[in-house]
Amino acid sequence: MQDDELQKLVERISLESFGKPFKHRAYFNGRLKTTGGRYHLKDHNIDINRKMADVISEDELIGIIKHELVHYHLHLAGYSANHRSKEFKQLLKAVGGSRYAPNLKAKSTIYYFYQCTNCGQIYRRKRRVNISRFVCSKCRGKLKLVKKE
Ligand SMILES: [Zn+2]
Ligand SMILES: [Zn+2]
Repeated sequence: MQDDELQKLVERISLESFGKPFKHRAYFNGRLKTTGGRYHLKDHNIDINRKMADVISEDELIGIIKHELVHYHLHLAGYSANHRSKEFKQLLKAVGGSRYAPNLKAKSTIYYFYQCTNCGQIYRRKRRVNISRFVCSKCRGKLKLVKKE
């Protein structure tokens, strides 16, 4: 997903779930580590964790966006956007935003399953492998990616 797609998604969620437009900028930030996203009090923009967005599901991404939009709309309406405030908890619950960022440690154990096209042997790898170089260790057959989970 690119920044302009993120921008459109945030605008759409804002209208659909909050009934109010999002008039600022949403963009990806590749430097965020465990935070899912941030709302900036100064310029009202929202940034979303690039690395997280790449591995989480669309629902989880929407949960993060809703969380940041709760900060956004409460702040613009003059309320405290503190996580512990009553308004924050109520609005977050009402729109179904996520309370915490998804745990990236759990997410990082994505496995790629490769199968030998010759003998059928399955290989599980933690990262994507170059199948033009990585061949079946039993029969030297070509591998293909069968699933990712
Ligand atoms: Zn927050
Ligand atoms: Zn093989």
